[in-house]
Amino acid sequence: MVIRVEERVTGVMIYYYFVCKRKLWYFTNEINMEAEDENVMLGKLLDENSYKRDDKHINIDTVINIDFIKEHRELHEVKKSKAVEEAGIWQVKYYLYYLKQRGVDGLKARIDYPLIKKNLVVELSKEDEEKLEVVITEIIKQKKKICPPEFEKMKICNKCAYHDLCLI
Ligand code: SF4
Repeated sequence: MVIRVEERVTGVMIYYYFVCKRKLWYFTNEINMEAEDENVMLGKLLDENSYKRDDKHINIDTVINIDFIKEHRELHEVKKSKAVEEAGIWQVKYYLYYLKQRGVDGLKARIDYPLIKKNLVVELSKEDEEKLEVVITEIIKQKKKICPPEFEKMKICNKCAYHDLCLI
């Protein structure tokens, strides 16, 4: 299936949709400040060093980028904290949804939080699929907007890579 670039919705976009719509706009408009950000670096480091044993990294259509544990038919995501847990859960649900749309059904997912030694099993319900369809439509609309949504100060702003840009 060929997805037009302007309609491509990645897991990171789903994540940002739930974290901050302004961040989503920056990201979808290719304003990328995350590469050097230390919170992002920590996330990547955890991703590279945690739970390596039976992981196989999969990247599909550059939309899905996640580990897959064959033995348990399980997608596997690593997050550094539970601070924006809802967003992480929806990101993983989107992966399950995306794969289901392409005929890969019956998977579940697990999010690990190695720093607090916790994990969470994530499954996809019919209601989740309906909600994701609304979210996907909104993200595609959001991408096409000329300006970002208004800045609203949130708790997470202090740790956000776009912090300086929002507070100019
Ligand atoms: S600094 Fe705050 S408002 Fe700006 S992009 Fe980050 S989270 Fe969103």
